[in-house]
Amino acid sequence: MGNPKAFTYIPRKEAGYRPVSERIYDFGEVEQTLNREDRKLQASRCMDCGIPFCHWACPLGNKMPEWQDLIYKGKWKEGVEVLHETNNFPDFTGRICPAPCEKSCVLALHDAPVTIRENEAAVTEVAFLEGMIKPQPPKTRTGKKIAVIGSGPAGLAAAQQLNRKGHWVTVFEKDQHVGGLMRYGIPNFKLNKNVIDRRIEQLEAEGIIFKTNTEVGVSVPGTQIMNEFDAVCIAIGAGKPRDISPAGRELKGIHFAMEYLSQANQLIMGEPVDERKLINAKGKHVLVIGGGDTGSDCVGTAVRQGAAAITQIEILPQPPAGKNPATPWPYYPNILKTSSSHLEGCTRKWSLNTRQFTGKNGKVTEVLVEEVEWKNENGKFTMVPTGKTETIKADLVFLALGFVHPVHEGLLTELGVAFDGRGNVATDKQSRSNVAKVFATGDAQIGASLVVRAIALGRKVAEDIHSTINC
Ligand SMILES: Cc1cc2nc3c(=O)[nH]c(=O)nc-3n(C[C@H](O)[C@H](O)[C@H](O)COP(=O)(O)OP(=O)(O)OC[C@H]3O[C@@H](n4cnc5c(N)ncnc54)[C@H](O)[C@@H]3O)c2cc1C
Repeated sequence: MGNPKAFTYIPRKEAGYRPVSERIYDFGEVEQTLNREDRKLQASRCMDCGIPFCHWACPLGNKMPEWQDLIYKGKWKEGVEVLHETNNFPDFTGRICPAPCEKSCVLALHDAPVTIRENEAAVTEVAFLEGMIKPQPPKTRTGKKIAVIGSGPAGLAAAQQLNRKGHWVTVFEKDQHVGGLMRYGIPNFKLNKNVIDRRIEQLEAEGIIFKTNTEVGVSVPGTQIMNEFDAVCIAIGAGKPRDISPAGRELKGIHFAMEYLSQANQLIMGEPVDERKLINAKGKHVLVIGGGDTGSDCVGTAVRQGAAAITQIEILPQPPAGKNPATPWPYYPNILKTSSSHLEGCTRKWSLNTRQFTGKNGKVTEVLVEEVEWKNENGKFTMVPTGKTETIKADLVFLALGFVHPVHEGLLTELGVAFDGRGNVATDKQSRSNVAKVFATGDAQIGASLVVRAIALGRKVAEDIHSTINC
């Protein structure tokens, strides 16, 4: 630690977002960047704590104190190398991670943690700009062939780790482009797709083969993959959306969030979209059901398309702002989160259950919601209807209620993998499914989660596959 007292006199400084008045007219990234000198000062705030809780909280175990110090000293190359020891894609997490590390930073006790996430993005940008990130193909090949099915962060991390161990890796992806939910779910204003593209270039140069537009279990039989490869890694994500069934659910204008978000991303990428299926929020009264990140991404997308009004509702109560005694430091706090999209114009409401969709000529026009109370009975939360209802005008509704588990039909059914109690692929401690040489990772293994966890699980499954096929 070069400057042990920096945290006492250098305040936390975030790069901040582009002004709302400017950013809502484009899909460019909303987050800005600090200059390098300011970035070094921010990194100097790290106290190199005896017990780095940031490191403990990060699913990847990133060594925050070490690379903060390297940034402070202007050693960008060494900084990014330390990051890459634990994280294949700090450029992704530096942009979109909810940063459990920062919530556990000791300086968070005074509401001013080190800007770890932004520092991570910054050091990786410097590294890309200055050509410090180069392909690292393996020196020798083992001759073993591994199929990774799914190209989200879990599949990509697994592929890179396995390839670097010398195995021949082929990644199969059902969509036209690689990247999973980072490509088709997360909007450009949070993660520009060129950030994914430049990583794919690196992975290809390292020797990984990508086969896109290939849905294993549909366009290519799973048995064929089983015959051709020494190990199969299932990284297909948790794609089955959670649904609700109030009266009127069948009306036109009610869509799963991912139908909308993936189409919006496809349009920006210039992918063909069936015109009859176009969903556009221009001039519409939009209701987003579900108060999480996916819902917030629908809000930001609808703002940019020129929605007339946007409401986002959540069935759970509004969490407290600031601190929550139920989730004290160093745990991840359950507190009110306001995203850049929320700041762009939307009404947020909590404790509302959806009771009925009504419409005209087969199209949704209104949604009836009822206020609920949450009672804690012996640690078990129960939802109690209050009878207080309201009607929300809505001619476009997005269901952003999360995901239940991976899609079972197709690949998983064909391979005959067993599921756990929540419908995810059941695995043992070595990420093995019940089917010989079939492993699972990422959201397909643990259910819908975060990019940082997907990368961590991708790295773990790579270790597990390597040790299994090498013994
Ligand atoms: C709208 C939205 C916003 C999010 N925002 C954030 C965020 O800001 N920060 C964060 O950390 N997390 C966020 N998440 C969660 C995060 O994106 C996921 O946890 C993460 O992408 C999971 O990675 P994965 O590799 O396991 O699966 P996925 O990213 O889902 O990738 C799975 C891939 O497998 C492919 N596939 C499926 N079946 C087959 C098949 N049979 N054959 C071939 N390919 C197949 C799919 O097309 C997909 O490309 C968000 C999720 C959504 C939906």
